[in-house]
Order: sequence, then structure tokens, then C-alpha cells
Amino acid sequence: MEDSYKHKGLRRQLIDAIRRKGIKDERVLEAMDKIPRHLFFDSSFLKFAYEDKPFPIGEGQTISQPYTVAFMTELLNVQKGEKVLEVGTGSGYQACIIEELGGRVYTVERHKALYQKAKKNAEKLSYRIKVFYGDGYKGLPTYGPFDKIIVTAGSEGTPQALIDQLKPGGRMVIPIGSSDLQHMITLDKSQEGEIIEKSWGGFRFVPLLPGKDED
Ligand code: SAH
Repeated sequence: MEDSYKHKGLRRQLIDAIRRKGIKDERVLEAMDKIPRHLFFDSSFLKFAYEDKPFPIGEGQTISQPYTVAFMTELLNVQKGEKVLEVGTGSGYQACIIEELGGRVYTVERHKALYQKAKKNAEKLSYRIKVFYGDGYKGLPTYGPFDKIIVTAGSEGTPQALIDQLKPGGRMVIPIGSSDLQHMITLDKSQEGEIIEKSWGGFRFVPLLPGKDED
């Protein structure tokens, strides 16, 4: 499947809409302008790829709304060469955006079918994100610590393993709350290991679930 002029045009309109909604980091907008979101969709749903809405990707999960992706990516503030952990690979779209910004991405997904699909999506576009099938609650201790951690499913609290795998000076972005409303939270770890928390308003995510689908 290709990235036609029509797709590029629709994508440009979507990026303009997201900018109008308040996203200021042009690096983030540029990365999203570059990545063909429609290639992360099943072919029969292509026409929904450039609406600013979440969309089902199978297994009861969704690819997040583009505005939400942009908002979280802006908060994550990825710098070139940083090691980044994503919990909740889903389609692989968010992970590819982080790589486009220069991050070295490790991403974990608990659904085997989505893990396999995300790997294919990234390979198709020549991204080198490292995709793992596992329980993101545990992080990836073998590959940590990470400069940045992004959790793309709603969590009731912050998993301690993820705090432990964040480098001093690092930042985690995680939606925290009940099953029907979460607050976007940034957790900054100081050089002394102190955690500074800030809230950035309400969002809705699919839940972070314990274990893998085949456990
Ligand atoms: N970032 C994704 C969207 C993620 S939706 C994208 O760009 O498409 C949230 C994802 O988190 C779902 O795929 C869900 O299966 C996954 N998830 C939920 N709990 C998890 C856990 N404990 N470990 C890993 N992945 C998890």
C-alpha cells in the first residue's frame, strides 16, 4: 500500500487541526506529518485514518486519537539518542513517532496478535523500534534504565517497576485514574531520585491490564 498525494493532503489537514488545538512543538507535528498513519490501519478502514479520533485496531484495543498522541509526545520531549520505553505498543504508531524524533524505542505489548502486527507495521516503514511481547507493568528491566517512559493505557497508579527503570533526570508520561477518566501525569525523577508529579488534564484510554493475553 502506498502513501499517495491524497493521503499526504489529508495528513497535512489533520496536523493543522492538531496545531490549532494547541500543540506547539513543531518537531512533534513534523514527525506526525511524515508518518503515514493509514499504514497502521487494516486496509478496509483507511478512510478513518486522518480523522482526529481513536480507532479500533483489534483485540478490543484502539490506536489513540492523534491529538492525544501529539500531546503525550510533546510532554515526553524526546531528544536524539535517548532510550525510551513505551508500554502499550498497540499498532506501533506512537513508537514510530518517537523513533522519528531520534529516540531508541523499546515497546511492550500484552496482546500477541497486536505485538506481531506492530512489528510488521514498523518493518514495512523501515523503523527499528524493538517490540516485545510481555507485561508492561514489569517494564523491561534487562534493557533499562530509560531516559523517558510513556504509558499509552490508563493506569490506576504508577507501577513501581517503571519508576525504578526511569533514569535520574528522566521523565515518565502516564495517564492515571479510574476506568472512565484518567489524568495525564508527568513524573520527573530528579538527580537525587525524588519524584515530581504534575497533572495535565483529563483523557480517556483503554485500561492497562496485568499479565499477557496467554497467561
Ligand atoms: N500506543 C498505541 C495505542 C495503545 S492502546 C498506538 O500507537 O497504537 C493501549 C495498548 O496497551 C493496547 O494495545 C493494550 O493491549 C496495551 N496494554 C494494556 N495493558 C498492557 C500491559 N500490562 N503491558 C503491555 N501492554 C498493555
